[in-house]
Amino acid sequence: MIQKVDHIGIAVRSLEESIPYYENALGMKLLKTEEVESQMVKTAFFEAGETHVELLEATSEESPIAKFIAKNGEGIHHVAFGTDDITGQLKQAADAGVRLIHEVPMVGAGGKQVAFLHPKFTHGVLTEFCSGGEH
Ligand code: ZN
Repeated sequence: MIQKVDHIGIAVRSLEESIPYYENALGMKLLKTEEVESQMVKTAFFEAGETHVELLEATSEESPIAKFIAKNGEGIHHVAFGTDDITGQLKQAADAGVRLIHEVPMVGAGGKQVAFLHPKFTHGVLTEFCSGGEH
């Protein structure tokens, strides 16, 4: 079952240049920064109540984030729904005709299990499921 919007993923050119906006202009608390090699990104997590904001900076030209920024510029990249059953959630989406990017969850930031749905099937919002991990 979907429990909440876990985080909103935002593609940025530079964590260093965008972190001060969230800290100073919005007054949000930076929880941590972390490199996720499997996704070729550096991430920064901010707290917004129960939901987090995940800034994503590409670490390689091959990173999906580099490609996203080349095409769209900086902006909202994905919405992540927290679930207590990521496998069941993927099965439900697949059974409803949605193509999966990840048939099996992979390990993402914070040691969470994460999986993405194919954006062609999600009406304009790249959708992530996540479960477990430290927050
Ligand atoms: Zn995410």
